[in-house]
Amino acid sequence: MRIDKIKVRRVLALVGIVLLLAAMLVPAVALARAGGGHVGGSSGGFSGGSSGGFAGSSGGLLSGSSRSSGGGIGGCCGSGFVVVIVLIAVVIWVIISMRKGGGSSGGGGSEIFTPPAGGQMPVGDPFFEIKAADPNFNTEMFFGRVNEMFIAIQYAWMNRNLEPVRRFLSDQQFSVLNNSVQTDYVAKGQINKLDNIHIDHMEPVEVLKQGDYDSVKMLVTATVIDYTVDERTGALINPKELGDGKTPTTFQEFWTLMRKSGVQSKMDATITKCPNCGAPVTDGNYVKCAYCGVQMNDPTLDWVLMRIEQV
Ligand SMILES: [Zn+2]
Repeated sequence: MRIDKIKVRRVLALVGIVLLLAAMLVPAVALARAGGGHVGGSSGGFSGGSSGGFAGSSGGLLSGSSRSSGGGIGGCCGSGFVVVIVLIAVVIWVIISMRKGGGSSGGGGSEIFTPPAGGQMPVGDPFFEIKAADPNFNTEMFFGRVNEMFIAIQYAWMNRNLEPVRRFLSDQQFSVLNNSVQTDYVAKGQINKLDNIHIDHMEPVEVLKQGDYDSVKMLVTATVIDYTVDERTGALINPKELGDGKTPTTFQEFWTLMRKSGVQSKMDATITKCPNCGAPVTDGNYVKCAYCGVQMNDPTLDWVLMRIEQV
């Protein structure tokens, strides 16, 4: 959207120059008609473009379509002044060049995970203190870890087996999710399917020091096709309320992660490795490492997902 703002400024400057030219050359009456029409038409396009800036990648598409509607600049050609024609030509040229730009910036629509742009972060680096104590800490790696956790939890949820995510989940949050899966789905013979799940956006909304621990609260915005089926027949259950299996929905959650202050990030760390010795986390050994024996969801070793809250 930054590019768009620059373009908008350029357009306004150009239109301004042309209008000035027109004011010098044509009678005031003609200017009032043609100029008024043009300014109205183009500002419609711009406001559409800037309001589309909420959702990163989709903003490009939104502003692209509103630009097309902003092209309605005709209906003014009765007077036949050369200046008016020049004005129309300039506006058309500007619209065409903006569309070209919109096409290239809208290409990221299918990205699975988009780190937030600098402008959307709180003022200053929210991870400044964590980075001071852990020079290996890297914001993108941290976001990557959250994304990794997010996908693993959704798969565990769909499989109705939360054991594989115990490696990084607090015991309390594990119990909440596990109880819910058992009573809401296993006991009823149902499966909650989550197709095409992906994070659209994430950002830290609170970074705190709590005693000896760093706590990071992330706002995660994600999109999913969420529906529920019978485990034997695969038939949709109550599609009106539980999802029709086709319609994507967007939801938001707060994820709070904790780690002891000063723990050093390991560059090759992942949720599929023991946070202590780096051995692979194997089937059935999701709580204690099969090699070094530590309890792995321990915030003195690595980030632990403490809480998931619906927004
Ligand atoms: Zn280990």
